[in-house]
Amino acid sequence: MQIYNVTMRNYFALGAALWRWRMRRILKRHLIPHHIWQSVTGRVLVLRGLNAVQMAHLREMTAWFLEQKSITGAQGLDVTLTMRVTVAAQACLLILNLGVEYFDGWVEVILYRGAFRVNHAQMDNIGVIHNETNVLTGESWLRGPVILSWDDVEWDTYHCQAGHNVVLHEFAHKLDGFNGVMNGMPPLRYGMSQNRWSDAFSGAYDALCLQVAAGESTFINHYAVTSPAEFFAVLSEYYFTAPDILKKFCPDVHEQLTLFYQQPTSR
Ligand SMILES: [Zn+2]
Repeated sequence: MQIYNVTMRNYFALGAALWRWRMRRILKRHLIPHHIWQSVTGRVLVLRGLNAVQMAHLREMTAWFLEQKSITGAQGLDVTLTMRVTVAAQACLLILNLGVEYFDGWVEVILYRGAFRVNHAQMDNIGVIHNETNVLTGESWLRGPVILSWDDVEWDTYHCQAGHNVVLHEFAHKLDGFNGVMNGMPPLRYGMSQNRWSDAFSGAYDALCLQVAAGESTFINHYAVTSPAEFFAVLSEYYFTAPDILKKFCPDVHEQLTLFYQQPTSR
């Protein structure tokens, strides 16, 4: 047992050393200019409440993100460094205490100027395929790109709207899909209980579904009942933008998300 503990300590120490070495190389080549970092993060509401150490860590992770992922514009949208930092910093808030490996398996972020149209083929319950056109503000593909409306990213970044942040929502789907399936259960931290996570989420999901079906007003966005995957993404938005609402109406989910994200929720 002692050998195992020593080995694991060495493993984590080696991992941390490698991370620091990699980050030094990335920061040398991709250091975010101070004035851009300050001007962006000073206005991003969801980052308020992070202390200086956390902000420094977030800046490193944002630099890592910009080096590892491509953020490009669609339909001629010119993507500036300020726009890229705005997206990357909020995405990295999710993994600030989780680790960058949660964003493995994909590389591309695509920005549209505004909401965008997508065509999806849907099979109905008698096996007939229907082509549907939807207008979206964000979309996250399993093992594929994250697609965002820049207008909506900007609005959510600079306006406080409880339970609403399209960047957090779409990148929460990436955490969920890290193990190859988007089902509302991302790979949990060592020591977390899958049973407790399932009990908390399924209980809150079923309760919200009943409230919505009964036409009752709810404090959680109805979009959450679309599926367990959307429930996780929406409640992650609440965790970072309106933790008091989440704690009051879904305390068990709030507890599980605190164990998972390990972030203070006093913003
Ligand atoms: Zn979603």
